[in-house]
Amino acid sequence: MKPAPFEYHRPSSLAETFDLLERYGDDGRILAGGQSLVPALNMRLATPRAVIDINRVPDLDAIRATADGLVIGALVRQGALERSPLVREHAPLIAAAVPHVGHPAIRARGTVGGSLALADPAAELPACAVALGATIRAGRRGGHREIAADDFFRGIYTTALAPGEIVTEILMPRQAAGWRWGFEELARRHGDFALAGLAAGARIAAGVVAEVRLVFFGVGTRPVRARRAEAALAGRRADAETLAAAARALDGELDPAGDVHGSPALRRHLARVLLARVVGRLVEARA
Ligand SMILES: Cc1cc2nc3c(=O)[nH]c(=O)nc-3n(C[C@H](O)[C@H](O)[C@H](O)COP(=O)(O)OP(=O)(O)OC[C@H]3O[C@@H](n4cnc5c(N)ncnc54)[C@H](O)[C@@H]3O)c2cc1C
Repeated sequence: MKPAPFEYHRPSSLAETFDLLERYGDDGRILAGGQSLVPALNMRLATPRAVIDINRVPDLDAIRATADGLVIGALVRQGALERSPLVREHAPLIAAAVPHVGHPAIRARGTVGGSLALADPAAELPACAVALGATIRAGRRGGHREIAADDFFRGIYTTALAPGEIVTEILMPRQAAGWRWGFEELARRHGDFALAGLAAGARIAAGVVAEVRLVFFGVGTRPVRARRAEAALAGRRADAETLAAAARALDGELDPAGDVHGSPALRRHLARVLLARVVGRLVEARA
């Protein structure tokens, strides 16, 4: 199919972008990497009056290490994230996750801001952002506001962005000493969206799980922080009994939907498998 006709705008500044968003309201759509928007246009799932291509807006494509952590511009391509030594050093969870996002050709164009703004519940980067306690900067005419990743993802393809706002940057806070990070997902084929995935971090002290963060994706309407499973692990050795208790707690807090790719029961099972694997690796890893 071909897209319905639309006006195409390529602003060269944020100010011009905000003017266009104001002019078109709900009828204007931001174009970043186009990896989701273009298929949606072609299938006429999206029929905006105007497409606002932000690829020429300057200063949105840098990765910088600051005193507070790693700042990633919204237009940073997922492929650039994958190759970045700064990301490997300061956000190893992201470095582990990003090769699972689609395929190299998709990562060559797909952007970090697009992935967060799209808020696909099976996407890797939103789950990592929640696990890392990231902050999303939303720019708008005359200013910006900071939104905690935990508050940003509201539901399937739904975020806290208000009309007239766009994602401009993501701040991954500097990680406290002693934390280890683990990532794994289960998909039918490498590069497919996950049936279930887990972005996790833990601080292990003398073989005990002192603190842990577990964020599942593909098993809810948004990234799911599994707080009851975290509580079942905290302060304990991750032995078989503790892992079984954490798996039971997890079962009680996940409510995955079924679809053609997997039933709710399958997704719950996969989440339990991921919990045991990832936590097991975090505990065994050398500090
Ligand atoms: C075959 C295929 C497989 C894929 N597999 C995966 C996968 O396994 N995991 C995964 O996470 N993703 C996957 N993707 C999606 C892809 O990786 C992109 O992350 C995703 O399409 C969004 O990024 P984008 O830059 O392409 O955004 P676009 O397609 O340009 O935009 C997507 C949406 O976000 C909005 N938007 C974009 N940027 C901003 C911004 N800065 N501020 C506000 N709104 C914005 C747009 O208006 C649009 O609604 C896949 C895509 C394809 C085609």
